[in-house]
Amino acid sequence: MKEKLFIFSAPSGAGKSTLVQHLMKQDLGLEFSISATSRKPREGEEDGREYHFISPEKFRKMIKEDAFIEWEEVYPDQFYGTLYSEVEQIWKRGKHAIFDIDVVGGLNLKKKYKEHACAIFIQAPSHETLEQRLRSRGTDDEASLKKRLGKAKFEMSHKSNFDHIIINDSLETAQAKAEKIVLDFLAL
Ligand code: ADP
Ligand code: 5GP
Repeated sequence: MKEKLFIFSAPSGAGKSTLVQHLMKQDLGLEFSISATSRKPREGEEDGREYHFISPEKFRKMIKEDAFIEWEEVYPDQFYGTLYSEVEQIWKRGKHAIFDIDVVGGLNLKKKYKEHACAIFIQAPSHETLEQRLRSRGTDDEASLKKRLGKAKFEMSHKSNFDHIIINDSLETAQAKAEKIVLDFLAL
């Protein structure tokens, strides 16, 4: 299997979407794996672009039908999952799949795809910076913010299981590091 996977995981707000979006703009042959979720779309999000937005009922049905490589109830009643069909189609198009996924999901993908997968943990320079970034992103209400920050400590405790850790302090430096990690892994 020459097809590869790049897994970007981090506590919410550390900057993984920003880094993944940056990598997608480079000519690296990467295609974003669009997950399915039962959470509501945020303003500006489109079905089939950021996520496949489906109802919790449909999500549960698809779990039973074995549609997911991995899935999780990341927050109560908010399911997220990676579709087998998504990854298969990316590979059929001759691209490598890139994932923006939570820490547990990322490690599950790594466990399944082993040497074909490069797992990268993105870390904010401090818990305070993480909070500032989440607040300035402006997409979460106070309760959602608390939930995300509360989960961050647990997620940090798993970082040593990743192949690489990038501290996202200066965005330019973090982008350059991410590019190098991808290029090195593609050259293997
Ligand atoms: P995640 O996908 O991990 O939840 P985002 O990529 O949405 O995080 O980033 C959270 C917020 O922090 C966004 O508003 C983003 O623009 C900002 N951000 C990302 N990286 C940096 C950085 N290196 N310096 C300052 N702000 C950043
Ligand atoms: P958000 O609601 O901010 O888009 O995402 C919440 C969390 O779910 C993030 O940590 C995001 O990376 C994660 N996530 C997105 N897609 C998947 C997926 O397919 N599987 C799992 N396990 N987590 C996902």
